[in-house]
Amino acid sequence: MNETMPAIFIGHGNPMNALADNGYTRAWRSIGEAIPKPQAVLCISAHWYIPALAVTAMERPRTIHDFGGFPRELFEFQYPAPGSAELAERVNELLGGKVAMEAGQWGLDHGTWSVLCHVFPEADIPIVQLSIDETKPAAWHYDTAKSLAPLRNEGVLVIGSGNLVHNLHAYAWGDQSREPFDWALRFEQKARELMLSGDHAPLIGYESMGKDAHLSAPTPDHYLPLLYILALQADEDEVSFPVEGFDGGSISMTTVMVR
Ligand code: ZN
Repeated sequence: MNETMPAIFIGHGNPMNALADNGYTRAWRSIGEAIPKPQAVLCISAHWYIPALAVTAMERPRTIHDFGGFPRELFEFQYPAPGSAELAERVNELLGGKVAMEAGQWGLDHGTWSVLCHVFPEADIPIVQLSIDETKPAAWHYDTAKSLAPLRNEGVLVIGSGNLVHNLHAYAWGDQSREPFDWALRFEQKARELMLSGDHAPLIGYESMGKDAHLSAPTPDHYLPLLYILALQADEDEVSFPVEGFDGGSISMTTVMVR
């Protein structure tokens, strides 16, 4: 019998964290050291936001450098974790056989590797990514994720990688220590209260939470991975925030752990 795995939403922020040694990356490493070693990881990354439901099903997923304007060192970075055809098939089974097996184009994007290179620096745990189907509403993502709950008892660590607050328009490039915007702090605070009280309905309906929510999650891609993790919360689970902070005033680096 496997130990029940936690489910974790990680605020990934700037891709340069892959190369950094800072408070966030050290905290990510501590998480990897504190939890049971998973047999495999299923990652829902903000950066695989496509009009389809798919999983990576290749043996050796490529390290994808899905960004521009960063130093060469970051483009040369590799995270050579293996894939898992077995987990890809299991996810498909849990989701009713509707998942496309992606064995060619995709791989691991920076939402996955910029974080996991710190959580699991050995790159020895198989990783599968599940896409975020951009054609579906937030409630569909939450409901879909509920079907993945058995994975937590099968040695699979489910990770959502995005940012609870993610507004690049307001982001202070080059001033990472800028004080967070008031709307960002208010939305983060409200979201945390709802998570701590287990009240997920307003979080699923975040688009109706007013102006602070519109500014904090102007596009769904970085917010939706959080719903996948909240959906996996069992009645006996507790919610904690093992990593906190803001980057550039408008990106929340908060991690949400359900266990
Ligand atoms: Zn991102």
